[in-house]
Amino acid sequence: MSEPEAPPGKHGVEEDEKKQERRARYVRMGLSYLIATMISLWLVQVLVMTPADRGTTIPYSEFKTKLADHQLVKVSIGANSITGEMKNPKAGATPQTLPFSTVAAPSPGGDPQLADELQAANVTYQFEPPPSAFSTIFFQYILPLVVIAGFWFLVIGRMGRGGGRGLSAVFGVGKSKAIEVKPEDITVTYQNDVGGADEAIAELQEIIQFLKTPEQFAQLGGHIPKGVLLVGPPGTGKTLIAKATAGEAHVPFFETSGSEFVEMFVGVGAARVRDMFEQARKAAPAIVFIDEIDAIGQARGGALRLGNNEEREQTLNQLLAEIDGFKTDASAPVIIMAATNRPEVLDPALLRAGRFDRQIAIGNPDVIGREQILRIHSRHIKLAEEFDMDQAARMTAGFSGADLANAMNEAALFAARRKAEAVALTDFEAAIERVIAGSEKKSRVMNEQERRRVAYHESGHALVAALVPHGEPVSKISIVPHSRGALGYTLQLPLEDRYLLTLDELKDRIAVMLGGRAAEVVEFAMISTGASDDIMKATELARRMVTEFGMSERLGAVRYAGQQMQYLGKTVEDDSQISTETRQVIEAEIQRLVTEQYDRAQALLKDHSAALETLARQLLQHETVSGSVVKQALESGQSEPLLPAVQAQATM
Ligand code: ADP
Ligand code: ZN
Ligand code: MG
Repeated sequence: MSEPEAPPGKHGVEEDEKKQERRARYVRMGLSYLIATMISLWLVQVLVMTPADRGTTIPYSEFKTKLADHQLVKVSIGANSITGEMKNPKAGATPQTLPFSTVAAPSPGGDPQLADELQAANVTYQFEPPPSAFSTIFFQYILPLVVIAGFWFLVIGRMGRGGGRGLSAVFGVGKSKAIEVKPEDITVTYQNDVGGADEAIAELQEIIQFLKTPEQFAQLGGHIPKGVLLVGPPGTGKTLIAKATAGEAHVPFFETSGSEFVEMFVGVGAARVRDMFEQARKAAPAIVFIDEIDAIGQARGGALRLGNNEEREQTLNQLLAEIDGFKTDASAPVIIMAATNRPEVLDPALLRAGRFDRQIAIGNPDVIGREQILRIHSRHIKLAEEFDMDQAARMTAGFSGADLANAMNEAALFAARRKAEAVALTDFEAAIERVIAGSEKKSRVMNEQERRRVAYHESGHALVAALVPHGEPVSKISIVPHSRGALGYTLQLPLEDRYLLTLDELKDRIAVMLGGRAAEVVEFAMISTGASDDIMKATELARRMVTEFGMSERLGAVRYAGQQMQYLGKTVEDDSQISTETRQVIEAEIQRLVTEQYDRAQALLKDHSAALETLARQLLQHETVSGSVVKQALESGQSEPLLPAVQAQATM
């Protein structure tokens, strides 16, 4: 079941902020280069081209007055300026003469009488030779060029092929920004700090074993994954779990974020990647953790993006080279962990075997997980005697671990504000509202009616899947809201890879897709917006059956799908060859296919309404149940006692 339309999540906002920050960084860097160039040009001017002491600068009129008053002692006339010494106006003071300078009268024309006047006033004067052609050219043209070229060289040095270090290394830009956390400084452990992530933790045990006793694995010749990718919505504890893994294995933890590798200059990121792995290898056994890897790991060669595509590609290539380059060898084991909440944008090369081939999905916790997390975060909070943790967990379906930590903290603040002795459930309730409001609907708590509807909807999918002859087995059903619009989901695991699908199998699929909507009708006699995603998928499948697979008797084995064309970067279908009449038939056939299966799903669920009831009730109680519960619900019709909930992690 899904939301009709995903609200603009917090995620997008964060993303924009990040982009803006990055852009600002580029501007700052560009500016600092410009300023550095200007300053050095100015320094050259000042240091090289200025005579030692030019004294006070006086207006030309004063110069002439002093000349007439016989105040000048010595004068040197240059092309642009006149310098010299004049008598100190304070008679008797030392020094007796003061240096001065003034701007010469502009030539040609200038002040033709000046020489005569100086002669008449009996002043020692001389003309400065014009600057030699060489020094003019040197100072005015060559030197600035050298300075500018120098800076370009610096920049290009960083661009060096494959992240060459060039001069950049001298300035430390190619240094990894990863923070090394020593094992003794890691205080987080699975046991004490991570709740509701048992499946992820179980999968990570193998990694910990390997880091602890690599020899054992080497002896057996087993293949250890080099990279582990933690996938899940924000705030579900990916960073926390990665750190705790290092804590459990007692190895150093190199923590960095993908965005730290994305710099303005091509090659910097790649140099940083190399540096980080060098450090990690020295510290091996170690865990390298790259948070938000999507910043560098986005698919290459995608749509044209302005700016530093090349930089990201080089960084990514370097990362791939590093991952491929080191053997997970027993003497110096390094495990790379990475986290992302957008696995779909990652470059497929990253996910290939031998790289991040181990993916661990971390979802929002279910009711049991939430209770564990709340207990963890209330350890240092004084709770009222009657504070019902189970109740608190039930109120927060859809909250991530971070939301729960936040809510517990807010509850303590609420209690403090009303000067209470201990935190009561009412404080927690108030805190929930604040967290929901604060996270802009990122987390949602459904009201009881909505939960019921979602439970029946998902039960409908699951039961139809179990009842149709070709339904794929249901492995898990959940009504834990998902951060990306899904209010619940039914997970079906195919038994085997399928390459061909028969008409019957496809029809069954459509029936399963519409099972959610059918269940809503059967139970509530009222439909909702929750089926839009299912309807879209069912329609799309039916369309392909009619227009691509030739499965409509009325239309026969003829292809009616339009030619796919690229237009302005989008894929559009050109179906201009299909006549209006045919189009109407296609639409009628699609509608017939879909409607038949919808009616069939409804009929199946009406026949098994007791099972539907049972399954939905189980879901409401446990939020996540395994596929076996579906079977039991069908067998008994009224299955009591209830099965324990399954600890589950959501898949995306
Ligand atoms: P992510 O990296 O997935 O965005 P974090 O690991 O940064 O999430 O989680 C942020 C904080 O939320 C953690 O520091 C912790 O306090 C809390 N938290 C998140 N998930 C859990 C969890 N499963 N158990 C306990 N605390 C959690
Ligand atoms: Zn659905
Ligand atoms: Mg994180």
